[in-house]
Amino acid sequence: MEKYELKTNNAEETINVAERLANLLDAGSVITLEGDLGAGKTTFTKGLARGLGISRTLSSPTFTIVKEYDGRLPLYHMDVYRLEGSDEDIGFEEYFNGNGISVVEWAQYIEDFLPSERLTIIINYLDEDSRLLTFEPTGSRYQDIVEALVG
Ligand code: ADP
Ligand code: MG
Repeated sequence: MEKYELKTNNAEETINVAERLANLLDAGSVITLEGDLGAGKTTFTKGLARGLGISRTLSSPTFTIVKEYDGRLPLYHMDVYRLEGSDEDIGFEEYFNGNGISVVEWAQYIEDFLPSERLTIIINYLDEDSRLLTFEPTGSRYQDIVEALVG
């Protein structure tokens, strides 16, 4: 599996990358985000929302686990941090196979529920304003998307 890296030097740059990615996605796309607290997972998701033409302010769904937004396509924003160590299924398959775009923060905590084809993005903190984004696509559809974005 090929990996692609991209460095951003401030939050706005991360938002811009995500906004461009949003324009390459279609119904049923699954994006999984990994990275420590404060890495930029929610910031990245804000860029996806912008790219989908969502005007509502996006806030972290930590306590509700999932929030839905209406845009060019629906956005299903999940933060599964609270599900660490549990095997609770909140109906993941319906989101992943739905008509929208699923974005999952802390996706490593629900590994068993994730579709095998997806775009994993790992965000690493470099310093206060810069981050390393590593794109790990599985499946040719996501491979093509990442190549269009980064390649
Ligand atoms: P997470 O959801 O991973 O916990 P957040 O997106 O909520 O992280 O927070 C990331 C914080 O880091 C925000 O305050 C954002 O403004 C800041 N930040 C600074 N530089 C960057 C960057 N290059 N990319 C993303 N976020 C950045
Ligand atoms: Mg977050």
